[in-house]
Amino acid sequence: THFGFETVPEAEKAKRVYKVFENVAQNYDVMNDAMSLGIHRLWKDTLLHVMNPQPGARLLDVAGGTGDIAFRFLEYIRSQRERQRRHVARSMQALSWKDISDVYAAREGGEDGPRESRAVVCDINKEMLKVGKQKADSMDMSAGLSWVVGDAEELPFDDEQFDIYTVAFGIRNVTHIDQALQEALRVLKPGGRFMCLEFSKVRDPVLARLYDTYSFKIIPVLGEVIAGDWKSYQYLVESIRRFPDQEEFKRMIEDTGFYCVRYHNLTGGVVALHSGYKL
Ligand code: SAM
Repeated sequence: THFGFETVPEAEKAKRVYKVFENVAQNYDVMNDAMSLGIHRLWKDTLLHVMNPQPGARLLDVAGGTGDIAFRFLEYIRSQRERQRRHVARSMQALSWKDISDVYAAREGGEDGPRESRAVVCDINKEMLKVGKQKADSMDMSAGLSWVVGDAEELPFDDEQFDIYTVAFGIRNVTHIDQALQEALRVLKPGGRFMCLEFSKVRDPVLARLYDTYSFKIIPVLGEVIAGDWKSYQYLVESIRRFPDQEEFKRMIEDTGFYCVRYHNLTGGVVALHSGYKL
């Protein structure tokens, strides 16, 4: 009863991936919470914590889907900015809060140009982006965000445009991973950082057994019950099993030309966070 992705030709795989995400777009966020028991939120928060972006940073979130990473990025920067202002406020007690806000407003729009952070969400699937855009509008988060249809293997951006490139739970869906990594390297500025969250390999045998049972027996059932779509969720599980493990993926990132490549295991290796720099 396998979905048969191993045997389909490459061009066919891309089409099937498109169909899967077209089918799940409307239910995507609910399913993410249901299937990961909400833990995907912690994984994404960890990504932001490790990234620690500063005001002015430009992010490209590839396979960004409904925008989870981009929203977190903008929120993180906003809270950073707020923290910096409070710090200044404390150390300059003579000035009123309004004075300090004015100083910052002048600085951010002034001499060294606008230091506005921006995030671009790029995804091959317009249905996923549509859901993300609606979310942005309803949360009043549209400022600083753009939504671009594009393929990770052939990004519609010029060279050296971004400080940070992220891809969360997306790279395993791409047909040629090496090609996507090359593109990441191309669009990053020198000094820019590549960061990837992806399902990986669990080492602990007990956890591995539990995780297998959960993936193969429970996830497709949840997919059927919540979204009426067994096959899409079976694809999801199979694509996770075929993705390279921590060390192999690290080597692929190094072979692309990134430096200081490392990874953290999250939840015992259910997910790995890889990162590297363009020099
Ligand atoms: N990053 C989001 C998150 O963490 O919630 C969405 C992840 S979702 C599991 C995978 C996404 O990868 C889908 O939105 C899908 O359309 C996108 N995708 C698949 N192949 C792609 C490609 N070649 N280029 C860009 N996006 C792609």
